[in-house]
Amino acid sequence: MSLYQPLSLINGQWVGASSGATFDVINPATGAIVEKVADLSADDCKAAIDAAEAAFPKWAALTAKERATILRRWFNLITEHTEALAELITEEMGKPLAEARGEVAYGASFVDWFAEEGRRIYGDVIAPHMADKRILAIKQPVGVVAAITPWNFPLAMITRKVSPALAAGCTVVIKPSEDTPLTALAVCELANQAGMPAGVINCVTGMDAPAIGQVLTGDSRVRKVTFTGSTQVGKILYRQCADSVKKLSLELGGNAPFIVFDDADLDAAVDGAMLCKFRNAGQTCVCANRILVQSGIHDRFVEAFSARVKAMKVADGKTEGSEIGPLINADGKAKVEQHVEDALAKGATAVCGGSPHDAGPLFYSPTVLVGVTKDMRMASEETFGPVAPIYRFDREEEAIALANDTQYGLAAYFYTEDLSRTFRVYEALDYGIIGVNTGIISTEVAPFGGVKESGLGREGGPHGIEEFLETKYGCIGIKL
Ligand code: NAP
Repeated sequence: MSLYQPLSLINGQWVGASSGATFDVINPATGAIVEKVADLSADDCKAAIDAAEAAFPKWAALTAKERATILRRWFNLITEHTEALAELITEEMGKPLAEARGEVAYGASFVDWFAEEGRRIYGDVIAPHMADKRILAIKQPVGVVAAITPWNFPLAMITRKVSPALAAGCTVVIKPSEDTPLTALAVCELANQAGMPAGVINCVTGMDAPAIGQVLTGDSRVRKVTFTGSTQVGKILYRQCADSVKKLSLELGGNAPFIVFDDADLDAAVDGAMLCKFRNAGQTCVCANRILVQSGIHDRFVEAFSARVKAMKVADGKTEGSEIGPLINADGKAKVEQHVEDALAKGATAVCGGSPHDAGPLFYSPTVLVGVTKDMRMASEETFGPVAPIYRFDREEEAIALANDTQYGLAAYFYTEDLSRTFRVYEALDYGIIGVNTGIISTEVAPFGGVKESGLGREGGPHGIEEFLETKYGCIGIKL
């Protein structure tokens, strides 16, 4: 079977909407229709919860090794189909093919890691408080999990949630973004080929995300919601989950500071900023959203960094050597334009870029702005585009205060060669993830997640599987 799958997956069957409705998936680089995909209603979505609930007892009862065997087959199939999956990601999402291949490897790494981690779920035997009691704490899967995912990493945001859930013994209903359902459906097809039992993974595609979200959060059989997306939608889901007191993981927006101190290795800082800012055309939650540079290195940094930015190749992600693809949609592009216009009107200067790019209607030129200040919109909101705003500062405490002056707390980065400063700043930054002398921090082995309004819970590493487990305490009375 082709990896191109236009139908939703419910109980091991590919199904269309009961109304027969479909929606168009658009290639953001060309505007062409990639595929027409099933547009399921909120009612259709209930069948997916039914299937996940019915499949749960049998899946949970397998040994961790049996689940791991299926997950490992899934990992192998994703890896074998890297090229086809990468092409699909580029087609519906726009990122350069080289980055899409990287996303497949990154996404697959969670399946591999959690296949192993599922076999290391331990409980405790606790010294009792009375002589005739024995105390245990065991870990059990939470139950049916709903996973709602964004468009910017259409494969990895799914495997980062679904792999630990499945390894723990949960069953899942995935709701991918309407912008990128095809990658989600393709990885589900590979799960089928790996021998995943019917109902263990279900994937519901549809345009009416709020209505589908209401069903997933309102149904008491769903015991956990795991969401990656905007802080605004995360707050809606948080409220909606309150009625049935679900467990919740939220991976939300960021406003990452990238701080370059006077004592930084300049070349390393420029390399890090390029990767951290321009990956996925600046559309990642951990992208540098504010680049803070100390006065003593400011001008040299701006010169070296903007020379690299000016040389970037902007083109359809399928073009050989493309480094910056299109933005996801017209709203995404409008936000970038508004942020830049606002900054320029308030006194910032564009060293390069600062306008749309002629590669197509959704392309924006990689941009470096200097003289950016706190009163500009981009200081407090995620720009989610290829725009690098540079702020100048003089003292370490000033940089820390500026970095922490946001409601977000996902990722922060800094460059320094001073060991004492490394620890001072690492501890002072109010963020869930800190990159020191590196601009790339994502890996399956580490706990990824934010503080403040960037979210709840962690994905990846040993912490990632805990999110899908409940602790059950047993107090056993014995005759002495
Ligand atoms: P979004 O608009 O919040 O959408 C995320 C997902 O939620 C999509 O599947 C969307 O469906 C769905 N959705 C929208 N409204 C909903 C509702 N009322 N109820 C239930 N589901 C709803 O975010 P996005 O624009 O796709 O993604 C970009 C955001 O994600 C950025 O803020 C970024 O920082 C954040 N992000 C965070 C992380 C992290 O790990 N912290 C990682 C990646 C991205 P439709 O697309 O079909 O509307």
